[in-house]
Amino acid sequence: MTEPQHALRLHAPADDGGAGELRLDELPAPTLDEHEVLVRVEASVLDPDDLAATAGAIRPRGLPRTLGRGGAGVVVAAGTASDDWAAGDPVAIDGGASCGRCVYCTTGRDNLCVAGRRLGLERDGTHARLVVVDGRHLVPAPGDVDPAQVAMLTRTVAVPYHALKRAGVGEDVTLAVHGCGGRGLHAVLLAQLAGAEVVAVDADAARRDTALAWGAIAAVDATGGDVGARVREVTEGGVDCSLELTGRSEQLRAAVESLRPGGRAALVGTGLGALPGAVLDRLTADELDVVGAGDPTLQDLGELLDLLADHRLDLSRSLPRRVATHELPDVLAELREVDGDPDLVVATPG
Ligand SMILES: [Zn+2]
Repeated sequence: MTEPQHALRLHAPADDGGAGELRLDELPAPTLDEHEVLVRVEASVLDPDDLAATAGAIRPRGLPRTLGRGGAGVVVAAGTASDDWAAGDPVAIDGGASCGRCVYCTTGRDNLCVAGRRLGLERDGTHARLVVVDGRHLVPAPGDVDPAQVAMLTRTVAVPYHALKRAGVGEDVTLAVHGCGGRGLHAVLLAQLAGAEVVAVDADAARRDTALAWGAIAAVDATGGDVGARVREVTEGGVDCSLELTGRSEQLRAAVESLRPGGRAALVGTGLGALPGAVLDRLTADELDVVGAGDPTLQDLGELLDLLADHRLDLSRSLPRRVATHELPDVLAELREVDGDPDLVVATPG
């Protein structure tokens, strides 16, 4: 526990939507309280929250703050009340926060707990060599799986997994995925695992091709105008569910307009703006549901790790761009212009 640690810290967010002031700082070895666990990070996933924090769209509590909303690692030491964990245990690091006692935590909605501190926002996150985590937010990881896959599972896979549940996606459901970056492509994969048929919507031809290669039944160009009408056309009347990941208002509109009467849209992207009056009228006339989907729950992550361990979830085609932690400021600056669903990036400490 005495080794010093390097961590990517946000010292100041950008006022102009840029990358902000990020530094790779050397920090003293962290200390643990009784419920905490010290984890050596093996892989940390880049998350849209990192982009939002550096751009000033969301404000971490207290600066400087180590970024990173989830990852994979190995337990180094556990606090005296954290006897579920021992040195050497491979773990998935969940970036959420929960108290375990409130009405949300005791009804399976720990992602809504307001008492805890989330990694990379209210406490130091995973873009570091070491991270201190509340023991409740570690999940055992299969020892034979690439840590990069476990890291991407905690956010890039778990966020759309949670959103698909909120959208009610299951057997024989048709789904339109609006935004096919890292999270959207995994929504395409997960929806098929649940028995759904997927239409992929994205402005980028390469992303649309990947979605088709991953099993989408059709792909629609998000730049071609009247996206909702084209989704309704290829699905003969509209999809049962839509997933919105881009955070762009025109995609929000398309996500709602893609629905059949009685359909449901789940919104993951933030900063979406308003719906035009004509679309709002459709909500009433066609009894559409619009739901928000935020962070995954601990149960979501446990289910995904079971699927991965049993080889029912195959992430072998999810090839993240692999970088070292010190390269993340450049990567974040590069990604700041893309929509709210960036491509998959996993960082290794260094
Ligand atoms: Zn709670």
